[in-house]
Amino acid sequence: MGGVIGVLALQGDFREHKEALRRLGVEAREVRRPEHLKGLKGLIVPGGESTTIGKLAREYGLEEAVRKGVEEGLAVFGTCAGAIWLAREILGYPDQPRLGVLDVAVERNAFGRQVESFREDIQIRGFPEPFSGVFIRAPLFRRVGEGVEVLAELGGLPVLVRQGKVLAASFHPELTGNLRLHQYFLELSGL
Ligand code: GLN
Repeated sequence: MGGVIGVLALQGDFREHKEALRRLGVEAREVRRPEHLKGLKGLIVPGGESTTIGKLAREYGLEEAVRKGVEEGLAVFGTCAGAIWLAREILGYPDQPRLGVLDVAVERNAFGRQVESFREDIQIRGFPEPFSGVFIRAPLFRRVGEGVEVLAELGGLPVLVRQGKVLAASFHPELTGNLRLHQYFLELSGL
């Protein structure tokens, strides 16, 4: 079954997500304006800098347009900064622009300066093998609402969560070459 997946291309590592989709044989579209959302089954929000992504998305009318899309059934997958943008609450940054469609409280740069970036195998629920998670100045989900399913944890804290068709990872699946999580998102998007 066909279907186009969008990648929010305002800032961050959207090219790596596009490449992952290409390798999966899926048509990918860079999203920079609300009209680019038309007909999409899913939207990936990349890692990068969440303040910048949030500000630009608001400026270009994408915050409102994506929120409406999600209400109408668009699947969304946020990785790292993208996950922060999806969150209802960003701890310590009450005014940071965000989509707020995922009922979590997220802490930015939650691993501290000493361990800013690392790679760690995580066990994702339903996946037969461990998944190598690349964490770069990564956030953590500190509070997770009742309707939110935790799909993977690190040190007892959630790092991959799902609420309906909203998926969020505090790590970067687009940097390892392992396509399983993208594949999972395609299924969530109905592809
Ligand atoms: N630390 C970044 C932020 O808070 C996220 C880092 C990333 O996306 N790798 O926006």
